[in-house]
Amino acid sequence: MRDFTNDHSALALNTASLGHNLEGKGAGWSPEQVIDACAARGFGGIVFWRREIGGRAIEIGNQARAAGLEVVGLCRSPFLVGPMAPKGRAAVMDDFCASIDMAAGLQAKVLTIVVGGVEPGSKGVGESLKLVADRVAEAAPYAAARGVKLALEPLNPVYAGNRSCLTTTRDALDICDAIGAPNVGVAIDVYHVWWDTDLARQLARAGERIYGYHLCDWLADTQDVLLDRGMMGDGVADLRAIRAQIEAAGYDGACEVELFSAGNWWQRRPDDVLDVMVERFRSIC
Ligand code: ZN
Repeated sequence: MRDFTNDHSALALNTASLGHNLEGKGAGWSPEQVIDACAARGFGGIVFWRREIGGRAIEIGNQARAAGLEVVGLCRSPFLVGPMAPKGRAAVMDDFCASIDMAAGLQAKVLTIVVGGVEPGSKGVGESLKLVADRVAEAAPYAAARGVKLALEPLNPVYAGNRSCLTTTRDALDICDAIGAPNVGVAIDVYHVWWDTDLARQLARAGERIYGYHLCDWLADTQDVLLDRGMMGDGVADLRAIRAQIEAAGYDGACEVELFSAGNWWQRRPDDVLDVMVERFRSIC
């Protein structure tokens, strides 16, 4: 297992941690400000959200690399199914391809896929998961041709209705198996999978298909399942154990802090948040 005690070069910032995934939240820093603040602290990578990038993917990607940061990923695909997805298959696929194009422009290694909830008119998750598999299978060659890996991110089951009918690493890997494309894998977010007693077995099964590792913590007394994530060390997830498992499976990539925290961390100065992140990464993760 890698020793981060004196080395946080594997640390990446997901800009959502500064509130940048939601309009009107956070400090409203430009991508350039975030790049500079991360580079100054020795972060190794950065993950952007589409809303920050607009038409400037190539420019921002180049700026990040020039500052010494790897563009680890892009958040995210549109929801592919469910009540919050674009209306109709064609609209979904158009926006899915647009997100792949943006990832390619940034030269981001990975596009994260959050699949969306239960398809309207259906019950349970089975039918929706089949649609997800179809749509990811269709997009996979398009992404491969542009050098983009697609990472299916299972979300905590509390979101199954509206945001992600994909809730377990097992189901994500079942979809990967069904698609069988060399650029389709999974993203493992501790917030979503920390509770899963089958996780170690599934991570071993995933092997080289782990494309991303997302860090924060699950607060025991969470006030809001969407926007009250904890800083690493403040919650109940066994972060070291999970990292040991993903590294045993072969993962040696970035560890990306993704902290949605409207009431706490997004209220603080971004400089302070980044400093705490570095300290917790070295001491806790
Ligand atoms: Zn995540």
